[in-house]
Amino acid sequence: MRVGQNADWTVPEATERVILGRAQRAAPCPVIKAPQFMSFLSAEPTPFDLHFRMFGVDVRVHPFFWLFMALLGWNGDNLQYTFIWVMCGFLSILAHELGHALTSRYFGQPSDITLYAFGGYATAYPFHGTWRNVAVVAAGPLVSFTTGGLAYLAMLGLFQFPQWLPEDEQVVGNILYFLFCLQFQGIGWGLLNSIPIYPLDGGQITRYLFVRFRPWDGVSLSLKLSLLLAIIFGVLAFQRQDTMWGLFMLSFAMNNWQELQMVRG
Ligand SMILES: [Zn+2]
Repeated sequence: MRVGQNADWTVPEATERVILGRAQRAAPCPVIKAPQFMSFLSAEPTPFDLHFRMFGVDVRVHPFFWLFMALLGWNGDNLQYTFIWVMCGFLSILAHELGHALTSRYFGQPSDITLYAFGGYATAYPFHGTWRNVAVVAAGPLVSFTTGGLAYLAMLGLFQFPQWLPEDEQVVGNILYFLFCLQFQGIGWGLLNSIPIYPLDGGQITRYLFVRFRPWDGVSLSLKLSLLLAIIFGVLAFQRQDTMWGLFMLSFAMNNWQELQMVRG
């Protein structure tokens, strides 16, 4: 679908090219985008992919999704906890992407979901105007905050009414850890994706809004904001000696810089 053809604004050709590039790739809703230096961890299909369909949406799970989740929540002392973390990652990221995909379907466009090494994405095709696009992108973090909030409430409920818990201490530990992981990951994915750094959800919403109100330079302004934030978060991450997040932010900054050159070009 061509962006700009039906849109109610006139976008400069360079701007249109940038938006079109995203649209044709049809994968603009990553939870975390694979940095270029880790392209070997891309979402290319493999014979080991898990396929299923949910609420009319096709879902594909790349084998590296499980591996990455296990590394992120590894607990050498308790492998059950590692397993619970991975299952919560699967549920919370799937719920986030279903938020995008089902909203897109509600507005009449097909969508499918891929979960891979760095999270997941729902394919999305742009809609006419601004607000439907914003709704599709915002639905992901909203679902994340909701699942995290519900898990938090369930945990509070169990602390309030411990008689509802089974007697087996190990089972109690697993239930509480399950709720903790759902809460932590729901709020965590929601917050991370709300940062206005492109192509995270927050960055996409910022771009749609900037283009809505400043069609002549909205893309370039949103990219400059995104670049600035990626640099700030990157510096903060490296200061905290958090190399992984530092590299992610560096990669976002580089992508944003390249896109900015395309818009200017
Ligand atoms: Zn998202």
